[in-house]
Amino acid sequence: MAKVKLEHIKKIYPNGFEAVKDFSLDIEDEEFVIFVGPSGCGKTTTLRMIAGLEQLSEGELWIDEKRMNDVEPRDRDIAMVFQSYALYPHMSVYDNMAFALKLKHIDKKIIEEAVMHAADILNLKELLKRKPSQLSGGQRQRVAMGRAIVRNPKVFLMDEPLSNLDAKLRVQMRSEIYKLHQRLKATIIYVTHDQTEAMTLGTRIVVMDKGEIMQQDTPMNLYHRPQNCFVAGFIGSPQMNFIETLCMIDENQVYLMHQGQSFEVSSYLKEKLIKGNYHEKEVILGIRPEDLKIQAVSQNSIQGKIIIKELLGYETSVRMAFYEKEITAMVSSEEVIHMDHELKLYLDMNHVHLFDAQTKQAIAHAVDADLDVKGRNN
Ligand code: ATP
Repeated sequence: MAKVKLEHIKKIYPNGFEAVKDFSLDIEDEEFVIFVGPSGCGKTTTLRMIAGLEQLSEGELWIDEKRMNDVEPRDRDIAMVFQSYALYPHMSVYDNMAFALKLKHIDKKIIEEAVMHAADILNLKELLKRKPSQLSGGQRQRVAMGRAIVRNPKVFLMDEPLSNLDAKLRVQMRSEIYKLHQRLKATIIYVTHDQTEAMTLGTRIVVMDKGEIMQQDTPMNLYHRPQNCFVAGFIGSPQMNFIETLCMIDENQVYLMHQGQSFEVSSYLKEKLIKGNYHEKEVILGIRPEDLKIQAVSQNSIQGKIIIKELLGYETSVRMAFYEKEITAMVSSEEVIHMDHELKLYLDMNHVHLFDAQTKQAIAHAVDADLDVKGRNN
C-alpha cells in the first residue's frame, strides 16, 4: 500500500472555473481518508486528479516517492470504485472481476486465486456466474469493490460508492467497507457528502467548501473542535445552533449578550475572550442540539415556543422559536413535549463553542478546558 501526497494542487477547468484551490494533503499508508463537503465543493475533481482522469492545473501529486502528474491512469496502480458501479453488463460477475487482470495477461490460475479471494471476502462466491442485471444494488456494489480488490492496488479511490443504495443497505455496506479496510490495510480515499459515512469510516476527514480545505482532522476533533463555523455547521446532525452575541467584559466578568439575555461562560472561555480583546465585539456562541437540556435552571437557559417536534425513537428533535432564530435540541423521547407550548432549555456551557463573528474562526471550545489543565498533546 502507499502514501499519497498532494502539494498545492489546483484545478481550473477550460471554462475558467477554479474547482480546486491550493489543495495540500499528506495521506499516510493505510489511512482511510474521507473527502466530505457540500455539492460542488470539488471532492470528485480532486479524486479524479489523483486517479489521473483530470489533469492538474497546478501543483504536484506523489504516490510513494513517485511524481504522478504525467503518469497515465493505468500506470498509477490505483483502483477506483464509482457511484454507478460501472460493471460490464454482458460479463458474468467472475469476468467483471477478472477483467483488469486478463488485460494484463496474468496467468489464469493467479487470476482465479485473486477472484476467489475477493469473492470470499465479499461473500460473492454464490454469484460468480450471474450477470450484473441479475444482482441487487448491494450485490453490484460488492462486485465493483471486488473488481478493485483483485487488482491489489496501491490506493483505492471510492466516489460515493454507496449513494445508489437504499438506507438499510447503505448501513450494511458501510460496515462491509469498514471491515474491508481493517482486513486489507489499504490506503483508501473516499468521497461522500454523507457525514455519517464520513464520521464512521474515516481515520481522517477532509472537510471541503468551494474548492478549499476547511479542516482536516480526526472525526472526533471535527466534532469537538471545529476550526470554523462552516465545519461546525457541517459536521453533526441536526446541525449546531449558532447564537450571535455581543461580548461584554467588565473587569473579570464576561457576558455574552443576545437580545438582552446574557450567557455566562466558564473561566477557561472567559480567559480566551479577555486575552483576545473581545470586549464589545461580536462573538458567535455555538451549541449542539445534544448539549441543550430540559432542566429547571434559570442561568444560561433560553426559552421559546415549540414549533416542530420529530420523534426519532430514542430521542426527539425539538425546534423552538428563540427571538428571530430557530433553535434545535435533541432531547429524550421520555420528555413530555407539546407543540406550541413554551420550552426552557439549559445550555451546557461545558460543551459550547465560541467563534469570532467577523472571521468565523473558532476562538475556543469549552471542552478543551480540561485538556488545558492537563496539557494538550499536540
Ligand atoms: P457533488 O457532491 O455534487 O458530486 P463535488 O464536490 O464532487 O460535488 P465536483 O464534481 O468536483 O464537486 O465539481 C466541483 C465544481 O467544478 C462544481 O462547481 C462543478 O460544477 C465544476 N465542474 C465540474 N466539472 C466541470 C467541467 N468539466 N467544467 C467546468 N466546471 C466543472
